[in-house]
Amino acid sequence: MIRSTIAGSLPKPTWLAQPNVLYAPWRLEGATLAEGQDDAVRLWLAAQGSAGLDIVTDGEQRRRHYIWGFLQGLTGIDTTTMAEKRCRGGRYAKATPVARIVDEVTWSGPVMLEALRYAKANTDRLVKVTLPGPMTSADSVADLHRNRADADIAMMFADVLNREARALAAAGADVIQLDEPCFNIYIDEVKEWGLAAVERAFEGVTAKRALHVCYGYGIDIVKAWKASNRQWGHYFATLPLIAQSSVAQVSIETAAPGVDVTCIEALRGKDVMLGVVSVSTEEIETPEIVAQRLRHALAHGDPNHLIACTDCGMVPLSRHAAEGKLRALAAGARLVNRELGLV
Ligand code: ZN
Repeated sequence: MIRSTIAGSLPKPTWLAQPNVLYAPWRLEGATLAEGQDDAVRLWLAAQGSAGLDIVTDGEQRRRHYIWGFLQGLTGIDTTTMAEKRCRGGRYAKATPVARIVDEVTWSGPVMLEALRYAKANTDRLVKVTLPGPMTSADSVADLHRNRADADIAMMFADVLNREARALAAAGADVIQLDEPCFNIYIDEVKEWGLAAVERAFEGVTAKRALHVCYGYGIDIVKAWKASNRQWGHYFATLPLIAQSSVAQVSIETAAPGVDVTCIEALRGKDVMLGVVSVSTEEIETPEIVAQRLRHALAHGDPNHLIACTDCGMVPLSRHAAEGKLRALAAGARLVNRELGLV
């Protein structure tokens, strides 16, 4: 049957951080912050559970940012004083503030382990942990320490991510997902070294291996790019490459932009986390709209390999919109499962 999950992030409650802002500072500190993050995680686990999602996340409630929230747990990276870099191929801005590599980057222990343990203790669903992919991480830092090429920085991050992913899998993570929005930008580099870095990060990892490839958050600069973009063929280049990899689940964005859903045919045999809920609008999809998007995909993929999903993280949305979208996501999947006689 068609299962359901989310890409990863969810909005912070207003008492934890300012809503509708990426990288918003915490509104609590010290032990109160830790308690607030625990409460926010439980709140979103309950919302995902009652909506009926099969695979849940902690909503990334302990991270201010999906990349730096992990990098801050490593040594050698300064996420306070920023450098400027041409990121994401210059797609959204000429230059973007990025964290700086200022020393040897080392992994001295699991960054997300306690968060995973807490999530598993507070849900009966399968738990997914999201980590920033090596190519996207490399694109999001400036190497002031050794001035390495992105391909080399990515392989360094892949080694670090591999240690993290092995520790998380050993602690019972059901799914470990690498987020690689850059796979929709640097198409040639995906083939040259991006996918090799993902394979390195997943080597020996016993949890289900997932990869999220999207066109970015529903924030203004991304929405403006999406509105003017006319070329949506990236998945036709990258998915056949990913199909050859050890990745078991592939998350793609198909609700919002002009992506041709027939691209999923390249992923036969793998689980497709199909974006059926847009993150570009506060408007809450009806279960019927979600169901229509799933039915459209069924002509090109097996329902047992289809997972209804959000296009990307919902962190920049309002809490109200995210709650509604969670319910619509699961309800739409149930509708189609009933039609197929699968429930
Ligand atoms: Zn995304």
